Amino acid sequence: MPWTGRFDQLFINGEWVDPVGDQRIDVISPVTERVVASVAEAGREDVDRAVAAARAAFDRGPWATASLEHRLEVMHRFRALYADSADTLSALITHEMGCPISMSPVIQTGTPLAILDAYLELALEYPFRTIRRSAKGGALVTKEPIGVVAAVVPWNVPQSVLMMKLAPALLTGCSIVIKPSPETPLDAYLVSELLQEAGIPPGVVNMLPAGREGSEYLATHPDVDKVAFTGSTAVGRHLASVCGQDLKRLTLELGGKSAAIFLDDADLDSAVESLRYLSLRNSGQVCSLKTRLVVPQGLKDEVLDRLTALIESMPVGDPTHPVTQIGPMVTQRHRGVVEGYIASGREQGATVVAGGGRPDIDRGWFVEPTIFADVDPDMRIAQEEIFGPVLAVLTYRDEDEALAIANNSDYGLNGAVFTTDIDRGLAIASRIRTGTVELNGNPSGFHAPIGGFKQSGLGREAGLEGFDSYVEPRAIGLPAD
Ligand code: NAD
Repeated sequence: MPWTGRFDQLFINGEWVDPVGDQRIDVISPVTERVVASVAEAGREDVDRAVAAARAAFDRGPWATASLEHRLEVMHRFRALYADSADTLSALITHEMGCPISMSPVIQTGTPLAILDAYLELALEYPFRTIRRSAKGGALVTKEPIGVVAAVVPWNVPQSVLMMKLAPALLTGCSIVIKPSPETPLDAYLVSELLQEAGIPPGVVNMLPAGREGSEYLATHPDVDKVAFTGSTAVGRHLASVCGQDLKRLTLELGGKSAAIFLDDADLDSAVESLRYLSLRNSGQVCSLKTRLVVPQGLKDEVLDRLTALIESMPVGDPTHPVTQIGPMVTQRHRGVVEGYIASGREQGATVVAGGGRPDIDRGWFVEPTIFADVDPDMRIAQEEIFGPVLAVLTYRDEDEALAIANNSDYGLNGAVFTTDIDRGLAIASRIRTGTVELNGNPSGFHAPIGGFKQSGLGREAGLEGFDSYVEPRAIGLPAD
C-alpha cells in the first residue's frame, strides 16, 4: 500500500473521529482479490453529525462570507499540497481499483489538477457580483453560495469526479460532505488530510465512506441543500425523484454510450491510435469513452484490422506494472456484467473480431479487450453502457445514416468526429446530440462546460457554468440614478 491513513475514522468538523457503529467497508484489490484496507462505514448518526457540522460551518459563515481572495489563497495552498501528493494518490487509486499505473498519473491525478486549475482561473472571471441597469432603475445581482453540498462519487475516476464538485463548492463558499464510493474510499482520506493541512476551516469539508443506504440517507438529508452526484443513470434517476420531494438542488453526471464517427477522409493512423485513450483508458471504465465506432461501409475491414492491431499492442495484466495498459475490472461482480454483455453480443448475432474471453492470468478480474463487428444499432452492446474494454463497430452508407446511428441512444454524454476537413467535421459535430464532442480527438477541456444531454445527466460541471449549480442568484432592486 502506497499510503495508510486513519482508515478506521471519519473526517467530521475538522477532526478525525470514531464512527458511532462498528461497520466496516473492505477495499479489495481487483488484482490479488485480497483485502488491501478496511475503512469505517458511516451510519445514519455519523451522517447526521457530518451534515450538522457542515450546516453549522456554513451558517457561522467564516468560509461562506470570506472574500474570494481568501478562498483562492487557501485553495492555491491545497493545489500545491495536492501536486506534491499526486504520485502517492495515483498509486493509491491503482491499488484500489486497478487503473494501470501507466495511466493513473494522467487520468487519476493529472485530470483533477487540470480541473482545479481551470476553476482557480475561472473564479476570477465568474460574475459573483454585478449591477444590471435598466431605464427604470436596476438591480444588484449576487451569486450566493447554495449551502451544504453532498458530493456522491463513483469509483472509476474518483479524484476527477470529486474535484469537479470540491473546487466549485469551496470557491463559491459552500460546505461539503464528501461520500466516496465503497470501492475507492482511500484516496478521499488522503485528500481530506490535504484540505485540513491547507487550512480549510472546521466543518467546511467532511468526509465519510458509506454504502447505498448511508449514501441515500445523506443525499436526502433535510439539511443538505444540494446533491452533486456522479454515477449510474439508474441511481441518478432514483435520486432525482427522491430529491424532488424537497426541491433539493441537484447535479447529475451519469452514464454514456458515446459514438465516434469516422468520416471517409479521416486520417486512420492517428484516429485509431487515439482510441487507445479515447475508447480504452482505465480499462474501458470511463463514462465518456467512445465505445461505438461508426465507420463508412467501405472502410470497415481496414478499421477492424487496425483496431485489432491496436488492442494487441495493449498489454493486459498487473496494473502496477509500468507496461500494462489494460488492468482488471473493478470487482468480480462488474467483470460478470461485462462478460454478460460479451455473451449478449454473441447471442444477438454480432461477430467477435478480437478478444471475447479471459486472458490467461491466474488471479484478478480481467477480461480481454474485445471488438465486435456486424453490430446492429439496436443490439444491447450498441445501446447499453458496458463500462469495460468492449467496442462495437457499426457501419454506415452516408452521413445522415452515421448521425442517425450516433444519435440512436438514450444517452447523450460525449461524441467524436474524425475527418481531415475541419468545416465538415464541425458541421457533423454540431448535429450530434451530446454535451461534448471531440473533433479529431481534441477534448473541450475544463474551461468549457461538461455534462450530458438526455439520460446522461442534468446540469453542467466545469467552465463558468460549473459554478452556476453551486450558487443561488439574488437580485436586490436599486433606485434609478
Ligand atoms: P453507482 O451509481 O452505482 O454509484 C455511484 C455512487 O452513488 C457511489 O458512491 C454509490 O455508493 C452511491 N450510491 C449508490 N446507490 C445510491 C443511492 N440509492 N443513493 C445515493 N447514493 C447511492 O455508479 P458506479 O458504479 O459507482 O459508477 C459507474 C457509473 O458512473 C457509470 O455509469 C459511469 O458512466 C458513471 N460516471 C459518470 C461520469 C460523468 O461525468 N458523467 C463520470 C464517472 C462515472
